[in-house]
Amino acid sequence: MEDGAAFNGLSCSWPTTLHTMASRGIILLTGGAGFIGSHIAVEVAAAGWTPVLLDNFCTSERSVVDRLGELMGMPVRCIEADIRHEGAMRAAFGSTAVHAVIHLAGLKAVGESVEKPELYHDNNVRGTEVLLAAMDEVGVRRMVFSSSCTVYGTPQRLPIDESHPLSAINPYGQTKLDIEHMLDRWVDAGPDRHVCSLRYFNPVGAHASALIGESPLGIPNNLMPFVVMVARGELPELGVFGGDWPTHDGTGVRDYIHVVDLARGHVAALDQLDSMHHERINLGTGMGASVLDVVHAFERMNGAKVPYAIRPRRAGDAAAAYADPSLAERRLGWRAQLGLDDMVRDAWSFAQRQG
Ligand code: NAD
Ligand code: UDP
Repeated sequence: MEDGAAFNGLSCSWPTTLHTMASRGIILLTGGAGFIGSHIAVEVAAAGWTPVLLDNFCTSERSVVDRLGELMGMPVRCIEADIRHEGAMRAAFGSTAVHAVIHLAGLKAVGESVEKPELYHDNNVRGTEVLLAAMDEVGVRRMVFSSSCTVYGTPQRLPIDESHPLSAINPYGQTKLDIEHMLDRWVDAGPDRHVCSLRYFNPVGAHASALIGESPLGIPNNLMPFVVMVARGELPELGVFGGDWPTHDGTGVRDYIHVVDLARGHVAALDQLDSMHHERINLGTGMGASVLDVVHAFERMNGAKVPYAIRPRRAGDAAAAYADPSLAERRLGWRAQLGLDDMVRDAWSFAQRQG
């Protein structure tokens, strides 16, 4: 870690002895300026690594880099590059001695992927090919990959463990499956290669400092940003997609996981990476919460009103999806610590700080 780094008093897990710690090495975060990547950068740094971001800012804001610097009390290095650009990727790895890559860069909007499947393949799948080729040129052999529970398709059984059948129900999900298969081939193509594909359930919330969080550009895709928009009065009501699902209150159930817990799962994966070939591990809490559970927790914790109306079911939705997170506990020594109340409180604090 660079000299002069210091905890600035904000609420994060930054060790106070940081300025005396030597860096354990550089972790390159593709897509590091995004919602999840920015939180991983904080936790990676807190664990003694030096995060370097690489991002083309297609779905994130440049100001995230400054806010991360403010949060960490030191400047954060960010390489502006597109993972699909061979020259840029070669230059990035040529200028930086990278210990491991956390590969988050990707497009993630399911609806957009249905409209533009070629774009999703090019950005996510071909982009990963270019990234791996650049890593090969300089001998970087470790990767933690942002996969998703979408690789399980429509749940056949609950909770979902890693042996659940795989299927892609949209082009976005297909890109995650394609990349996991590509990584199987990559680890077999050379010695000493290590990959952990982390299959995220539903990341929400924000850092407790409220300096970083989820700020989707344009119309959001996921539940929590819509809840926040309704609470802010930017939308009159939340449309709840189906009130007659076979769940405890009729609304869809998901496994929401606090983004800081999720980020810490990546640090745990980095620590175990050298004992892996290519492992797939769920990151979830194991607890299902319905849409109305989220709405009620949000209103109770934040004193805000979230009017809602039951609408028709959304095409392609499942009644319920939640993880069996026990492999993460056994293999990574990781389990989620934060609950739904923390998630809705931190999501709202971040939204309010945005003004
Ligand atoms: P995000 O959109 O906030 O972050 C993605 C980042 O990648 C952005 O900063 C974007 O600018 C960057 N990026 C995209 N394409 C790029 C390219 N070609 N070159 C360089 N940078 C590029 O999304 P997020 O929620 O932080 O998601 C991060 C990763 O986690 C994605 O791969 C996503 O598929 C995966 N994931 C997210 C969720 C979720 O619900 N948020 C769930 C499961 C998996
Ligand atoms: N949902 C909803 N209204 C919205 C957005 C989402 O009722 O405006 C529901 C959705 O049907 C699902 C849950 O909220 O039951 C989580 O949806 P999200 O898109 O965030 O995650 P995913 O379905 O991809 O797991």
